[in-house]
Amino acid sequence: MIRFLMRLTGLAMLILASASVALAETEAKDDSSWSIAIHGGAGTINRDKITPEKDAEIRAALSKALEAGSKILKEGGSSMDAITATITLLENDPNFNAGKGAVYTWDKTNELDSSIMDGSDLSAGAVAGVTATKNPILLARAVKDKSPHVMLSGKGADQFSREQGLEQVTADYYATPRRLQQIEEVLAKQVSAADVDYKFGTVGAVAMDSKGNMAAGTSTGGMTGKRWGRIGDSPVIGAGTYADNRSCAISATGSGEYFIRLGVTHEICTRVRMRFFAARDEVQATVPKDKDGVPEYYVHASEFSLEESDVQKIADDVIAELGELGGTGGIIFATPWGQAGYSFNTPGMYRGRANSEGQQSVSIYGDEE
Ligand code: ASP
Repeated sequence: MIRFLMRLTGLAMLILASASVALAETEAKDDSSWSIAIHGGAGTINRDKITPEKDAEIRAALSKALEAGSKILKEGGSSMDAITATITLLENDPNFNAGKGAVYTWDKTNELDSSIMDGSDLSAGAVAGVTATKNPILLARAVKDKSPHVMLSGKGADQFSREQGLEQVTADYYATPRRLQQIEEVLAKQVSAADVDYKFGTVGAVAMDSKGNMAAGTSTGGMTGKRWGRIGDSPVIGAGTYADNRSCAISATGSGEYFIRLGVTHEICTRVRMRFFAARDEVQATVPKDKDGVPEYYVHASEFSLEESDVQKIADDVIAELGELGGTGGIIFATPWGQAGYSFNTPGMYRGRANSEGQQSVSIYGDEE
């Protein structure tokens, strides 16, 4: 279903009403509207695996991050600043697999991946396999804003980080006893990173600001026990992160190889964009034409929005296809029409969302809102 916004002139309204177009919504879009969604990873997150204390700790961390992003958006700040602040907080929290608390590689090192994208101009920045930056999302943003490139990796990315004056840390900064124990178990069993279920905890945020600009970002330590310079989807634009003002902003988490193969975040945005323009064309086709076949009115994209259920279905379809390939995980989305939501095929996903209409919630398990 399409929702029609009251941006139309009286003439256009008359024409469209006479063309019997279903106008589900006639309220003007509030220019100060905003929305944000965040995640802290998806996986086999079941109630029996999390103590009540940990459950409360995670919810408090998600709430704090969500509030930080919401505050920026409420005060008229940009979606880019909101997601950067949100992700930085989650990176600093040892409960998540990003920044402090990142998982270990096979060699017991930390190699961090991150990416960020601005939907207003499709500018993007990403880093892979960085080893000494306290907040990789700030480095991804520096690549976007201060370099002519989109993606830097390894030693070069570390060097660029130092040159940009970003805060550097030694390896012990990232370390936590829990991550150490996990890598010890993986090494003892000699299992592949792909078969390990310690990967969840990747963080991400997506938002729409009061100007209608979309932004998305993702940050991760990757998979426990990863080898050979393995890079997942999180720093890959179009797989782990994507933002486009014409459709949506998406951040992903899960088994990265599958997200790359399906190009999940770009795929969802593309389907949303196509659905949106198809809906507009359907209405345009109902506008009366003069004797020369010229429509009396050209319907403009700014006059429409997709319903949240439309976007939800597209996201669910792509996540279902991911599942058919063998992939697990999920995504968060924000749309230019103020919606924020999730889709995942795992038992749980650390997540939260808020908007200018007063919606605000954090959830962990699949059966929650
Ligand atoms: N997608 C990340 C990766 O494959 C891991 C995760 O999201 O849990 O590196």
